Amino acid sequence: MTPPPWHAPRAAYLLTAAMADNAGAIVAGDRIAEWAGHDESAQRDVLAALGAQTRLVLKMLRDELGVEIEMDWRSTPRAVCSQALAAARELIKPKRGARATPECARCREIIAKAMCSLQIQAYFRLGFTPLMIAAMCRQSANEAAMFPRH
Ligand SMILES: [Zn+2]
Repeated sequence: MTPPPWHAPRAAYLLTAAMADNAGAIVAGDRIAEWAGHDESAQRDVLAALGAQTRLVLKMLRDELGVEIEMDWRSTPRAVCSQALAAARELIKPKRGARATPECARCREIIAKAMCSLQIQAYFRLGFTPLMIAAMCRQSANEAAMFPRH
């Protein structure tokens, strides 16, 4: 059964909300239900949706504050393989490039969490508290299901 087109954006928002509940901290080995419940193909879709959502907030940060923030490129490479790292760079690049996703499940999860964390940092700089970010993401998740853009 193919999931509805709004499934991945919704799951991506819920994942960011769950991370915001943890104040954006990436807890190593921490299972997040919003991620672990997905099979590989769904995870790829969620990664793509997370990439789109991350690009959006990074653009907002650039436009409103003239600030650029990046994924932690010092600690992320230690945690994932080079293929996953390249995929992560592609996913958050403002210009659409090839959308590769990491082959390994472990790396996909780390990259997903890193993108959530990046979004939370960006929203934080824009003046939102983690509590507000979590609420905002949950609202967007509901809207994604109510007003599908596809
Ligand atoms: Zn890997």
